[in-house]
Amino acid sequence: MTDMKPFRVGRSRTGLGLFATRDLPRGTEIVEYKGRRIRTPRAKELEWVRANRYLFEINSRWTIDGSSRRNLARYVNHACRPNAEAVLTGGRMVYRATRRIPEGNEITVDYGKEYFDLYLKPIGCLCVTCVEKRREARRLARKSSSKRTDKRASKTLQSKRRAKTIRTSASKRKTSRKTSAARKTARRT
Ligand SMILES: [Zn+2]
Repeated sequence: MTDMKPFRVGRSRTGLGLFATRDLPRGTEIVEYKGRRIRTPRAKELEWVRANRYLFEINSRWTIDGSSRRNLARYVNHACRPNAEAVLTGGRMVYRATRRIPEGNEITVDYGKEYFDLYLKPIGCLCVTCVEKRREARRLARKSSSKRTDKRASKTLQSKRRAKTIRTSASKRKTSRKTSAARKTARRT
């Protein structure tokens, strides 16, 4: 890891996030998840009591409490198709790029199923993949509802046309009656 931080904290769609300040090749160690270590069973209690969302379980014995603001890795948001992952290297928990992250892109990791079900599912995941999925679903719903409207519209048009035809034949009949009446008059004079 170089001394110059390859990231900055910035605005993301969910609040704050971590963004690459230069191109990060795949495998780059981006940021360490820092915090005091606590026993995992104790961490599980804390999670329930204080709703501490920044607990990072290393294993069944140790958990990192990353709630300190000095822990910049806490700003890394969840994504269902992330570009980084957590790896334990030399006793440190580090976020590493799983693919090239272009400059300016947000750095994301998968928080895991437990976190997702607990915190993200109830409010709706805001990662690019999920937002895109919902947008596509809405687009399809709109499309099928507009198709229904089209059908309804053509039905109205058809009945209008039918009405017009009826009216036309009626007026034709009227005209012919008029003509015969006129003829009658003509004959009378
Ligand atoms: Zn998602």
